[in-house]
Amino acid sequence: MVTDPVCNMKFEPADAVETVEHEGTTYYFCSQDCAESFREEPEDYI
Ligand SMILES: [Zn+2]
Repeated sequence: MVTDPVCNMKFEPADAVETVEHEGTTYYFCSQDCAESFREEPEDYI
């Protein structure tokens, strides 16, 4: 299981709608909205 850092939802990596690489780590997102929020301000979520 992985955790969406924006909304804290847990799901299987295969179910992620979008992934974002940030400083060598891959983050998984439940929605494009969450991924977009992370891209704008990644430091707010890690
Ligand atoms: Zn989410």
